[in-house]
Amino acid sequence: MNISSFLPSVANVHGDKPAVSLGTKRLHTYRAFSDRVTGLAGALRGELRLSVGDRVGLAMTNTPQYLEILVACWHAGLCVVPMNSKLHPKEFSYILDHAGVKICFVTENLTEGVSESLGTVDGFKQVICVNDDEYETLIKHAPINKVDVSATDPAWIFYTSGTTGRPKGATLTHQTLLAMTLRYYADIDQPSPEDNYFHTAPMSHADGLYALPHLIKASHHIVPESGGFDVAEIFGLLETYKNATFMAAPTMLTRMTNHPKASEARSENIKTIYYGGAPMYLEDTKRAIATFGPCFVQIFGQGESPNTGTSLSKELHADYDNPKYEKRLSSVGLPRTGVEVRIVDEEDNEVPTGEIGEIVLKSDVVMAGYWNDPEATSRTIRNGWLHTGDVGFLDEDGFLTLKDRSKDMIISGGTNIYPREIEEVLLMDSRLEEVSVIGRPEADWGEEVVAFVVLREGASITTEELENLCLNNIARFKRPKEYFFVDQLPKSNYGKILKTELRKHFHLKNS
Ligand code: AMP
Repeated sequence: MNISSFLPSVANVHGDKPAVSLGTKRLHTYRAFSDRVTGLAGALRGELRLSVGDRVGLAMTNTPQYLEILVACWHAGLCVVPMNSKLHPKEFSYILDHAGVKICFVTENLTEGVSESLGTVDGFKQVICVNDDEYETLIKHAPINKVDVSATDPAWIFYTSGTTGRPKGATLTHQTLLAMTLRYYADIDQPSPEDNYFHTAPMSHADGLYALPHLIKASHHIVPESGGFDVAEIFGLLETYKNATFMAAPTMLTRMTNHPKASEARSENIKTIYYGGAPMYLEDTKRAIATFGPCFVQIFGQGESPNTGTSLSKELHADYDNPKYEKRLSSVGLPRTGVEVRIVDEEDNEVPTGEIGEIVLKSDVVMAGYWNDPEATSRTIRNGWLHTGDVGFLDEDGFLTLKDRSKDMIISGGTNIYPREIEEVLLMDSRLEEVSVIGRPEADWGEEVVAFVVLREGASITTEELENLCLNNIARFKRPKEYFFVDQLPKSNYGKILKTELRKHFHLKNS
């Protein structure tokens, strides 16, 4: 089974439907898209001399060519290695080497950085810029038929962000991608040729993975001209396109809600916004629903179980009268169809309902293992269970609530404190735009709680007001001992708040 096998049917049945646009500019129909894919696949196996199973890198910002390269590689029996476009040349080099990439497609801005690896990385022989004429020549190559591969062959090596140590390559097979796609249809949405999928988040990540369920159903793919998440641009696209679906990392969603034009946005044209990847706070979710309607689905997953662990459906976002509504809205939802979720202690024993432990997952969406790293694989997948490194609990109805990643938990005087709980309380005051709580080393207690706060434009608040908010809502020992007012919080390339950076910054300031 080759995950690209949908191509003939979209080309034959939906050939005249738009496949890819850049902003409002139509680029290719599904017939043209299919021709480009089969031509490029021909070039990859022909003049570029790649063999079945070879790895092809993508170091590209969001661009229309992204999709045809992914599908062409699969059609040609190759495995893609999409990389975060914001990496440093040395980080690209590490991944190119580790994955044994032979050819890498780049957008113009990354040609130089990636080319540094030519001559230094063994077997890495060519960088192809998708903005050059050479690329269009490759597309015009004589087409080839789809290459038969085994369902268990690697299709996508997903490099983790590597916040601790070197990035690891989660190996996703054709079967993994199919299992992920079917879960999209089962738990999230039914895309159709009338749908418009906006690529608002990095295509090397969740956004690109969920291109698949939309390609298979011949939906229209819109790559915003900015190549990123620009709220005004998204509101502009909603003027043109109906039935829009897109991904928004929590910080992006909050930015959307807080945008001065939010109330005028054509939210009736939004079909689905899926969010995840980092905690979304209750107050922010409520504000987002009040602004854009219940078009939201929350997903919890990780590269090792791509986009698929649990989800909180649109219906549950709109279940306003349920007495458990807020509690559920603060959770990451229910296990996805056919995905087993358990909470275990340090000895891998399942803990009783309501108790906190490590979240482990089991399903056919879990990666085959880490590329070329059997030790990390056996540490992470034990007895068939993917150990996510995330901490949380299941309630009596089966909803999963995430606490923090174990490394973000604060231990003060031997008591575990979960920053998220304090962050939720502080965000009850709408003058706060963002907040992040970490532990500061302290001689007596081991660690003490401190908070970094970003205020909304033009807003002001006193430490005393924040202190009262905490005293009225949580135990005294959990309240921050100090507040730092900052203009912004450090974020990863995927919009996750980098607590490691906050801790570092903090350490420097006080050392
Ligand atoms: P990545 O592999 O880069 O997609 O990162 C996965 C990690 O992001 C997970 O292990 C969680 O720590 C975090 N994450 C994913 N989804 C959510 C969510 N819905 N809420 C909070 N954190 C999340």
